[in-house]
Amino acid sequence: MIRVLFAAAEKRWAEYEAPLRHALDNTGLDYELGLDFAPETVDYIVFAPNGPIEDFAPYTACKAILGLWAGVEVALRNETLTQPFARMVDDSLTQGMTEWVTGHVLRHHLGMDAHIVNPDHQWVTKAPPLAADRIVTILGIGELGAAAGAALAGLNFNVRGWSRSAKDLPGIACYHGEEGLTEALRGADFCVLLLPQTPATLNVLNAERLALMAKGSFVINPGRGPLIDDAALLAALESGQIAHATLDVFRTEPLPQDDPYWAHPRVTVTPHIASETRAGTASLSIAQNIARHEAGQPLANLVDRSAGY
Ligand code: NDP
Repeated sequence: MIRVLFAAAEKRWAEYEAPLRHALDNTGLDYELGLDFAPETVDYIVFAPNGPIEDFAPYTACKAILGLWAGVEVALRNETLTQPFARMVDDSLTQGMTEWVTGHVLRHHLGMDAHIVNPDHQWVTKAPPLAADRIVTILGIGELGAAAGAALAGLNFNVRGWSRSAKDLPGIACYHGEEGLTEALRGADFCVLLLPQTPATLNVLNAERLALMAKGSFVINPGRGPLIDDAALLAALESGQIAHATLDVFRTEPLPQDDPYWAHPRVTVTPHIASETRAGTASLSIAQNIARHEAGQPLANLVDRSAGY
């Protein structure tokens, strides 16, 4: 019998208990799921950073910690979390991100704002270019970036992707490494950031790299706030190098009321809602991962602590 401890914010239990039991039932494993077990008897912990556990040291028999979040930078700050740690990969989270990214790219590509807000009722007959005439560069082509890239490629955008390791993805021109980043951004009409927050990705979109993009291009950030050098982005917006930035994530969240992004006429702020883990599909992902591990297979979606994601 295995013990699965649910250690996320209390309100999540109401959401997750039934789907998690259902998914675990379907694995055929003999299990107990609950909110409170003697720490040394726990086999798996389902975890979110704002949950009840701060000290993981007493969980001496814990075989793995299964995160409910795709981003892991907060969890990795906890030095007591030394057990194998799998992050969340959830079909619904991926689908939601694809929809958000595609929607915001299409908004700017089609110039929708000019028609949604047109107080002077101007009749300007300028049709937008075709997607095939636009370059969309996605920084980070993992679970989320690759799926968004595939959807955009399906709409005929010229999609480029940048990652740490070399990749070969259908419909996406793949780049990696420092030189690859320069090539990926050169002349891009859009930069979509879907990198994790690590020491290596801090301020990755800086003044020099913003200058590589096409004049009047667009920045879309559903990744993490610290990926962008904020002062450099504001300067690029001021100069017209960047026409508009759509930002979902920020260094400080909620975004402080006096932050210049709120008032900027060419910045759209969305409150970290690009996508979220959904209990039904996330429970399947967790139960399947536990079943894999119990069957002697390696855990899926393991975090590489040395890389920070
Ligand atoms: P993955 O780990 O699957 O993908 C990360 C990608 O970033 C990979 O392609 C990886 O390269 C690349 N990468 C990492 N470090 C570097 C580096 N130093 N240089 C170049 N490329 C790098 O993550 P996900 O796609 O699942 O998620 C991405 C991020 O999205 C999360 O970390 C989180 O911050 C954010 N997110 C935001 C949400 C929101 O609502 N706003 C919701 C969910 C996630 P490689 O392929 O070589 O490993």
